[in-house]
Amino acid sequence: MSTRQVGAARLRRLPPYLFAQIERKIAEKRAAGVDVISLGIGDPDTPTPGLVVREMQAQVARPDTHQYPSNRGRASFREAVAAFYDRRFGVDLDPDAEIIPAMGAKEAVANINLAFLDPGDVALASDPGYPVYTTGPILAGAEPVALPLLPGLGFEPDLEAIPADVLDRARIIYLNYPNNPTGAVVEGDLFDRVVALARRHDLIVVHDNAYSEITYDGYVAPSFLATPGAKDVGIEVFSLSKTYNMTGWRSGAVVGNRDLVQAYWQLKTNLDSGMFEALQEASAAALASDQASVREMCEVYARRRDTLVAALREIGLAVTPPKGAIYVWAPVPAGETSASFTEKVLEEAAVVISPGAAYGASGEGFVRMSLTVPDDRLAEAAERIARLVRA
Ligand SMILES: *Cc1c(COP(=O)(O)O)cnc(C)c1O
Repeated sequence: MSTRQVGAARLRRLPPYLFAQIERKIAEKRAAGVDVISLGIGDPDTPTPGLVVREMQAQVARPDTHQYPSNRGRASFREAVAAFYDRRFGVDLDPDAEIIPAMGAKEAVANINLAFLDPGDVALASDPGYPVYTTGPILAGAEPVALPLLPGLGFEPDLEAIPADVLDRARIIYLNYPNNPTGAVVEGDLFDRVVALARRHDLIVVHDNAYSEITYDGYVAPSFLATPGAKDVGIEVFSLSKTYNMTGWRSGAVVGNRDLVQAYWQLKTNLDSGMFEALQEASAAALASDQASVREMCEVYARRRDTLVAALREIGLAVTPPKGAIYVWAPVPAGETSASFTEKVLEEAAVVISPGAAYGASGEGFVRMSLTVPDDRLAEAAERIARLVRA
C-alpha cells in the first residue's frame, strides 16, 4: 500500500468512539479473569417482549416479507406509528407523508446531518449529549457547536446564551428529552421556546425521542411534536430500541414535518434499501400492543434507580433521581475528574462507568451509570463503588 493514510479526512476529524475504548478495557479485564460489572452501555438486559418475538417469527416465515422493501415503509408500519403517536401523544401524523421507517435512531440522526447540513453550517448539539449529534455533523462536513446542558437549568439549554453569529450559521438544533445522559425531562416551556427560536432563525429542530416511554414517578413525557407549531419546524426520531428492548433489531422512525421527511427519504433511497418488512410488522405489533411490557420495564428500572441512588447518596454524592431514561448521572467525589473517577472505579472496583466528559465538555464532573444490569449485579456494583469511595 502507499504511504497515504487509509481513512478519508472526514474519519480523521472524528473523536475516538467512546464505547470502543470501554469495550476494549472490559475485554482486557475479563480475559484476566476479573469479574467486571459494566454499567457503561445503555442496552436493555431483559428480552424483547414475547408478542413481538412471536410476530417476527410468523412474519419471517412469510415469503411476502422477503424482498426489497420500499424506503417509504409498509403502510401497516406507518399506520401503526401514526396510531401510536395519536394515542400516546395526541399528535396527528399523516402516515403517507409524515412518517418514514429508520433502522434505529442512530442511523436516523447520522443521516439527518447528511440530508440537511452543508459545509459551513452549524448543528447545535446538546453537551453532554448522544455522541452522534457531534460526529454526524462532522461527517457531513459541517460544524457541531456545543449547547451546554447544566444542572442549574435542569439540564435544559440556555437558548438566550447562544451567540448571534452561531445562530446565523445554525441549521439544526438537537434536543433529547428524557435525556441521555443526564436523565433530565422537560417540565416547563422549553419546547415552545425552541419552536420560537427555530422560527426566528430558520432552524430545523430534531428531537431525539428515544426514551419517551421510559419514565418514573408518574411523569409522562411529551412528544416535541405536540408543541404548537412544532411540525412547521421539526422532526422527531422515535426508536423502538429502549422502549421494547429491541436494540439489536434496528427499528425506529423519523416523523414530523413533511418536507423534512421527504428530504430524508430522498437521501435514504441513495443509502440503503429499506427496513426488512418482517421487522416492520413486528414493530407495528409492538406499537399496537397494550404496553404492559413497557410498564413492567419502567418498574424494574425505577427499582434499580432507587438502589443505586441510595447507595451513592450514602457515600455523600448529591445525586438527583432521574425521572426518565435508563441512567443515573452522578457528580464525582471531590478531588476527582470524570476520567480519574471512572479509571479508579474500573481499576479498583471492577465496575465500568462512563466519564461524563466523554459526552461533551459540560459533562465534566459527572459520571453516567446505566441501569441495564440485573438487580443483584447492580447492587453489587453499587456496594463496590461505595467501598472504594469510603476507603
Ligand atoms: C440509545 C439511543 C439512541 C439509539 O437508538 P437506536 O434506535 O438503537 O439507534 C439514540 N439516541 C439516544 C439519546 C439514545 O440513548
